[in-house]
Amino acid sequence: METKIFDTTLRDGEQTPGVSLTLDQKLRIASKLDEMGVNIIEAGSAITSKGERDGIKKIVSEDLKAEICSFARAVKGDVDAALECGVISVHLVVPTSDLHIEHKLNKTREEVKKTAMEAIEYATDHGLIVEFSAEDATRSDYDFLKQILSEGIDMGAKRICACDTVGMLTPERSYKFYKGLTELGVPVSVHFHNDFGLAVANTLSGLRAGASQAHVTVNGIGERAGNASLEEVVISLSSLYNIKTDINFKMLYEMSKTVARTTGIYLQPNKAIVGENAFAHESGIHADGVIKNAKTYEPITPELVGHRRRFVMGKHVGSHIIRKRIKEMGLKVDDVRFEQIFKRIKALGDMGKCVTDVDLQAIAEDALDVLAEKPVELEELTIVSGNKVTPTASVKINVEGMEKIEAGVGVGPVDAAIVAIRKSVKDIADIQLEEYHVDAITGGTDALIDVVVKLKNGDNIVSSRSTQPDIIMASVEAVLGGVNKIVSDKMINESENKE
Ligand code: MN
Repeated sequence: METKIFDTTLRDGEQTPGVSLTLDQKLRIASKLDEMGVNIIEAGSAITSKGERDGIKKIVSEDLKAEICSFARAVKGDVDAALECGVISVHLVVPTSDLHIEHKLNKTREEVKKTAMEAIEYATDHGLIVEFSAEDATRSDYDFLKQILSEGIDMGAKRICACDTVGMLTPERSYKFYKGLTELGVPVSVHFHNDFGLAVANTLSGLRAGASQAHVTVNGIGERAGNASLEEVVISLSSLYNIKTDINFKMLYEMSKTVARTTGIYLQPNKAIVGENAFAHESGIHADGVIKNAKTYEPITPELVGHRRRFVMGKHVGSHIIRKRIKEMGLKVDDVRFEQIFKRIKALGDMGKCVTDVDLQAIAEDALDVLAEKPVELEELTIVSGNKVTPTASVKINVEGMEKIEAGVGVGPVDAAIVAIRKSVKDIADIQLEEYHVDAITGGTDALIDVVVKLKNGDNIVSSRSTQPDIIMASVEAVLGGVNKIVSDKMINESENKE
């Protein structure tokens, strides 16, 4: 048995409050959905605007493997707009509940049926595949629903869909509801919203009842509480029901990241399958179990979905665990350095941050890079930055026992700070910044920031890094670390020359 995936990230997903995608963004997401193996991509609603049509046309022009579909109401203009875009199919939606028919459309059941049939006939006559879809189907009179869908099939619809528009079904009711619709003899789509957190459960239940296609969105984005989530549906189907889809699971994590970044709708850490904590283990018994055999606390491997396993050290972490981890990373750390590392992890814990093994590695390497003797040390740093001000930094720095105060301006706060530092050490070294590289280690705006710099003083080139929660401090510490290396090298050379 195989289930087809109808992805509506670009239509229902884009209806998420606050989300509006550009043409290029839509194209990127569509290409990736196609590469991942989605069978049908609902690329938008052609009638919406010229921009929307341009986006759909661009996606159509890419010649993707997936069937490209446009949303349409049972209105000639909607079908014409879809035709103009060159899509293969329309998701033709008609409200079927009395609530929608009377209060939204101000019509009767018979009137709605008539317009629906006309639209299906028109779309079919013009070569479109019609997926005839009932809006608010789950609050409709079931006999009327079956009747209108059945007449739609007679009129030429190739597939039918029944939408749980406000997420009212339970898994038990979903089974019965869709079972009845499969009797109509064409492929049935399930379309669930997550108002009660049941969208995925209801989807699975509808598919078990014989529906063969699931409407989903990446990360479950969509209006209100969203839609059924693509990644949860396909992995549940595969791992719990042994039902195949054409989805390449290895792309799920990357796909999720792309959609989160593009839409600005970031995930809760505990989101199933693709959340940052989906394969994270707090140090202690669980982490210990996972290290011995990952199956002890992981139902599926992170590799299956292109994710990664993380071990997290909170503020309760013991020093022996950190010592063990550092050793496993192949780093040799003496007691003084270890104390520095341990203190920083505890301090981060007190700031409410958890330290992952990747963070720990950066912190440990950072500590190993820091010289025990520091000829140059930062005492004060003040930054002024914002809109319509010139980024300015002032530093008070202790240079070999002498206090220096300097200020600098730059294109941004980091640049200004580095200018001020260069000025304050100019008597002992002429520092040039050769390279500057910044990386957020674990993602998110409160991630640890890892800054690596390459500094040049004459022929001497050194690199230095710093890992901090604050990007400006990480940059300043990295530069100062490099300055200290340069100054120490110089002092060593000078003393060797004297001898
Ligand atoms: Mn919907």
